[in-house]
Amino acid sequence: MDASQNLGPVILLGPPGAGKGTQAKRISEQYGIPQISTGDILRDNVQRGTELGVQAKAIMGRGELVPDVLVCDMVACRLRDADCARGFILDGFPRTATQAGWLDAFFESELFDNSSAGKRLPIVIRIDVDYNQLVKRLTGRRTCLANGHIYNVYFQPPRVEGICDVDGSPLIIRNDDREEVIRKRLLEYDLQTKPVAEYYEHKGRLASVNGDLDIGEVTGQIFWVVEHRDGNCL
Ligand code: AMP
Repeated sequence: MDASQNLGPVILLGPPGAGKGTQAKRISEQYGIPQISTGDILRDNVQRGTELGVQAKAIMGRGELVPDVLVCDMVACRLRDADCARGFILDGFPRTATQAGWLDAFFESELFDNSSAGKRLPIVIRIDVDYNQLVKRLTGRRTCLANGHIYNVYFQPPRVEGICDVDGSPLIIRNDDREEVIRKRLLEYDLQTKPVAEYYEHKGRLASVNGDLDIGEVTGQIFWVVEHRDGNCL
């Protein structure tokens, strides 16, 4: 697969802490398509105090899901940007059965209509991780205040405690990485997002990878899935 080809949508599913963000960045670098993280876009809106950010802030702080209509409108805007024409990676979306249905309708109706390469079916990959491992990854996660570089006090500590190796800025615990909120986020995943994987499984589109392995091995599995996709267009 060369970097000029039309890859189409890549959807990464998996619980919070599965490594979707890390793997999405690697797919983005490998294939030259943008990573679209709904969590990042929402956090950016909260930080800038936009209307969406004001509506989402308290909901996110409780570890609950932002209403479908707000998130779907936000994703629609982003997917219409020119850099998505050859494909994109969705990280953290869809997260409910309603969002998954909306996304399919969106792909049918407008996405890539102007692309000479035609529409591509999404590649859907779920990253599976053991529950206890997830809790450790999330409670240990520290995020650099300046640029979002990610560490983990158990698995990937910074050289100096509490300080980012790359830019020397302080490392913080994300508001929703506190233990009580983590339990809630994992519960939301079980209730709302597991059915999304089932939705794609019924359509014969779900591939799963073992996210308990080393980061590089998980990346290898994901690239394999991408390279061996069915080449069908919609
Ligand atoms: P994440 O960084 O993907 O774990 O997302 C952080 C928070 O943003 C979640 O706990 C939700 O409150 C919100 N969020 C992110 N993506 C979505 C989505 N697709 N639907 C609803 N809420 C979302």
